[in-house]
Amino acid sequence: MLLSVVVPCFNEADSLELLHAKVTAEVAAAGEDFEVIYVDDGSSDDTLIVMRKLAESDDRVRYVSFSRNFGKESAMLAGLKHATGDAVILMDADLQHPPALIPRMVELHRQGLDQVVARRNRQGDKFVRTALSRAFYRLVNRWIEVRLVDGAGDFRLLSRPVVDSILAMPEYNRFSKAMFAWVGFDIAFIEYENVARHGGATSWSFGKLLNYAMDGLLSFNNKPLRLAIYLGLAMTSVALLYMLWIIGQATVFGNDSPGYVTLLTAVVGLGGLNMMVLGVIGEYVGRIYYEAKKRPHFLLKEAHLPAATSEGRPPAQRTAAGAEPYDLVGQPR
Ligand code: UDP
Ligand code: MG
Repeated sequence: MLLSVVVPCFNEADSLELLHAKVTAEVAAAGEDFEVIYVDDGSSDDTLIVMRKLAESDDRVRYVSFSRNFGKESAMLAGLKHATGDAVILMDADLQHPPALIPRMVELHRQGLDQVVARRNRQGDKFVRTALSRAFYRLVNRWIEVRLVDGAGDFRLLSRPVVDSILAMPEYNRFSKAMFAWVGFDIAFIEYENVARHGGATSWSFGKLLNYAMDGLLSFNNKPLRLAIYLGLAMTSVALLYMLWIIGQATVFGNDSPGYVTLLTAVVGLGGLNMMVLGVIGEYVGRIYYEAKKRPHFLLKEAHLPAATSEGRPPAQRTAAGAEPYDLVGQPR
């Protein structure tokens, strides 16, 4: 069995060497042949230089480098696309995903499981963030048809069938948490203690997280549109009842037309509602717009992907983009 370890890296020069040492030790302990695929997501620090160095000293290292920052989802996709293994392990570069779990993951995979998901607890997280995450998972699980598990992130082992299924999903808006769940197959979870980041800084601001949550709610279903219809229906019914009430009053007691505040409230309230519903529709139209363009998910400026042979991998050799026949563009076909 060949194991591929895929690591998306954005400004991770500080932790890459340590990560590589730990990962190679653990995978070797798991007793499998392996390759490590680093994806440089347009880093502005020395990440790519460190990758080249690693590739020079270790011929199990393969890497691709993006022309700019395309985001973690694209980086993971690129890694999966270029992985040749019978199973792929996805993990972060910042050592928040303990490499020590790898042997256990491989073990469970050998027992026939297709997805082995490492699930972290929330120890050491800020209270507000934990509470918000909990609320998010409760909401999202009621909302979308696949089940998302709190703490289950991108640290997971995927069998070849799962990887191929993921690669067969060409959508531009990728919410991989839900995509992994949507794919299905036999899943196992293993728990681990939350770890602080090794070097660098997280790229998640509060605003980004909020947008991520919004993506989670919107990108996997059309329930918000359905909700808009119900909201409209409810508003119309209330307005109708109120109108009947006013007409009834006017016929019984005569018309002294007060209603200025009522009118203003109704106009502003309905205006707000209209905007909101338009916003929801706009979100979906925006997504259609991005899907319709069929842009590649990423562009490579450099790739080091020596082909595997039965005698093992040929010695490392740096190749500039364009010089090789492999697919430099992340358009899954
Ligand atoms: N990452 C990436 N592209 C990005 C942002 C992050 O490839 O635009 C990588 C990053 O190098 C790390 C992983 O994704 O390996 C997780 O990122 P981070 O640690 O910032 O997120 P967190 O652990 O806080 O969720
Ligand atoms: Mg991290």
